[in-house]
Amino acid sequence: MEVIKLQNVKKSFNGNAVLKDISLSVKKSEVVVIMGPSGSGKSTLLRCITFLEEPDNGIIKLGDKEVEADLPQNKQRKKVIRDLRQNTGFVFQQFNLFPHRTALENVMEGPIIIKKQNRELAREKAVSLLTKVGLAEKMNHYPSQLSGGQQQRVAIARALSMEPMVMLYDEPTSALDPELVREVLQVMKGLAKEGMTMVVVTHEMSFARDVADRVVFMDQGIIIEEGTAAQIFNNPKEERTRTFLRDVN
Ligand code: ADP
Ligand code: MG
Repeated sequence: MEVIKLQNVKKSFNGNAVLKDISLSVKKSEVVVIMGPSGSGKSTLLRCITFLEEPDNGIIKLGDKEVEADLPQNKQRKKVIRDLRQNTGFVFQQFNLFPHRTALENVMEGPIIIKKQNRELAREKAVSLLTKVGLAEKMNHYPSQLSGGQQQRVAIARALSMEPMVMLYDEPTSALDPELVREVLQVMKGLAKEGMTMVVVTHEMSFARDVADRVVFMDQGIIIEEGTAAQIFNNPKEERTRTFLRDVN
């Protein structure tokens, strides 16, 4: 079963075509890693999935919700986009936690405000999620009292608190000191093992080798090639992929 399906998605900024006719499907429990040089459109692609950017053309499907890019805004369309966002957990390079809330409050916020969950239930779930990401001890700490790796794990717990159908990660370890990268990747790996559907933009090749069902290589707004990590890393078909892999290594 497909959880995400993008059909012919295009996006330009001021006449600069950043996504050129992208089609991509992600099945339930699949882990797709997207790689590509800086500026190739990876972030824009993730942002289009949740309509943080409006695509110019194409169709975005998430579960049974479908949004066509070039239809006029109306109440019903806005509602579908809201649903689509609620069903997507987004983890950014910068953790974007609320600075004046504790880790626990950060994780409780979405379910209470958006899902109208009662406070006790939201709290119970938040405790269990923070335990899951290894932060039971740090629940009452503020973001400034946490390391980058811990903050990013809170951000993952916060995204999970909305019980999304899919998790989207945009270079989740790029802002971290090298010694903190592993703890975040471990948490992501654990989630993947539990069957979470995920799309991950990352240059962490070992993560891709261990966890990805599929690696998608993008350049200049186009999917150049896709395959298993072994296919893409050991035996890339396209010159652009080869050049990229030579440069990241
Ligand atoms: P990547 O994540 O692969 O580095 P991005 O999706 O961030 O690439 O960006 C792709 C291209 O789109 C870049 O040239 C970037 O400058 C441009 N771009 C992204 N967002 C905007 C925006 N909001 N306005 C104008 N240009 C943008
Ligand atoms: Mg990016």
